[in-house]
Amino acid sequence: MSEALRMFIGGEWRTTASGKTFPSIDPFTGKSWAEVPAAGAEDVDSAVSAAREAFDDGPWPRMPGVQRSAVMRRLARLIEENAEDLALAEVRDNGKLMREMAGQVAGLPGFYDYFAGAADKFAGEIVSQSKPNYFVYQMLEPVGVVGAITAWNSPLMLMSYKLAPALAAGCTFVLKPSEHTSVSALRFAEVAAEAGLPDGVFNVVTGDGPSVGEPLVSHPGVDKVAFTGSTATGIRVAENAAGHLAKVSLELGGKSPNIVFADADPEAAANGVVAGIFAACGQTCVAGSRLLVQREVHDEIVDRVVARAKRIKMGDPMEAETEMGPLAFRAQMEKVMRYVAIGGEEGAELATGGRRPERFGDGLFVEPTVFVGVNNSMRIAREEIFGPVLSVIPFDDEEDALAIANDSPHGLAAGVWTRDVQRAHRMVHRLQAGTVWVNSYRVLNYDVPFGGHKMSGYGRENGLEGLAGYLHTKSVWIELSGETRDPFKLG
Ligand code: NAD
Repeated sequence: MSEALRMFIGGEWRTTASGKTFPSIDPFTGKSWAEVPAAGAEDVDSAVSAAREAFDDGPWPRMPGVQRSAVMRRLARLIEENAEDLALAEVRDNGKLMREMAGQVAGLPGFYDYFAGAADKFAGEIVSQSKPNYFVYQMLEPVGVVGAITAWNSPLMLMSYKLAPALAAGCTFVLKPSEHTSVSALRFAEVAAEAGLPDGVFNVVTGDGPSVGEPLVSHPGVDKVAFTGSTATGIRVAENAAGHLAKVSLELGGKSPNIVFADADPEAAANGVVAGIFAACGQTCVAGSRLLVQREVHDEIVDRVVARAKRIKMGDPMEAETEMGPLAFRAQMEKVMRYVAIGGEEGAELATGGRRPERFGDGLFVEPTVFVGVNNSMRIAREEIFGPVLSVIPFDDEEDALAIANDSPHGLAAGVWTRDVQRAHRMVHRLQAGTVWVNSYRVLNYDVPFGGHKMSGYGRENGLEGLAGYLHTKSVWIELSGETRDPFKLG
């Protein structure tokens, strides 16, 4: 029997107004393991009202920052205490490896500790001295109620990118996790309640995009929408938020180039390529899904990557030695297999993979797949697959590499592998991407701003820039002379 869960709204555990639920399927077993509330617009309205009330009349935004910090630090310690349970919820919801999730959940407290450290250190500043009879200062205030919508690939981490700075700023929060991975957010709500967040500060409503996401984004009570998901949905979110001019941050998809020069350390580079595309089955926004490799070392690097891909151990995500588990849900697996077929039809050559391993029967496994002979105009080089499929594109020199790398609608991340420090800097300066790794790949942390260029979105999460996204400024003019001014003259 799968467990029936309830949503967390205004400090209470609630069922939906309609009483409807939907199953959360464990992609490894193919079985439902939890029953999740299927909310609708009425439930979204309750959650936004609770967050609104907590913002307009509750203690959280008015509390001294040092007290908010204390609650956030308590939350961080409770995440540590509940790490195993939270990690397990994500493994069962989306098939991610326990090996990865244990590390990811162990990293979550850092987000709350880091932003707790900032919660009592912003106030504003004295600004213009140019009008002698005025004292002018700027206050920093929380933006208000945040509507957060997340993707399924790293649910608690993507939530924490938003929740930790929002709490530090004094905002209140309504989360809609992906319908594919709702359970960890509900488990997290138990932890948040225990930490002592006042009622209505953190709320979770569960359900799909049309029934819950759209009403949340369009709700006039939401002041800021923080979204992580695909580019197509991000555009729709921006359009709906524009109806009441809510602020929006968008963390969207990518087609990131991992660029290997002939002077790179071949072992480190090949390892970085594998990390970039096969970790988490390639279901990461920053997946290095295009391998751009200099012609002189093309065969050597491809051979190394293919050899490692063939050795990848697929299996039960709970087992410590497993390197790739199943894809997160059936439609995602089918999408990946469609792109494998498209690659073949476009004339790319399969160097390895491209099949669903027979030993897992109908399980949602896809072999680590490498296509060679790809050119950058093929769909497998332009469109985000979000799976373990690498497209290898040769290049001649630096200019050629840059032209191919930047010829993409996306601009989320890029990797550069070279031992030439001058070349590394030249590449960093000219790559159109929000994050560039040199001789490394897929490293992120709470104190480093993260976000995209071009169709990969706008706004930055993490770091102090991430906090700024949850604050707005109020300029205050205090007249000092006491004189009555000419009412028809400006300033
Ligand atoms: P998705 O766009 O299908 O869904 C994302 C979220 O939006 C889900 O919670 C979904 O229910 C909701 N949603 C769907 N339609 C909506 C609507 N009309 N209005 C409001 N909400 C709606 O994306 P996904 O398949 O869950 O996630 C994969 C995508 O997320 C990939 O493109 C990936 O690159 C991207 N992603 C980006 C980052 C980043 O930080 N840039 C991180 C992780 C994932």
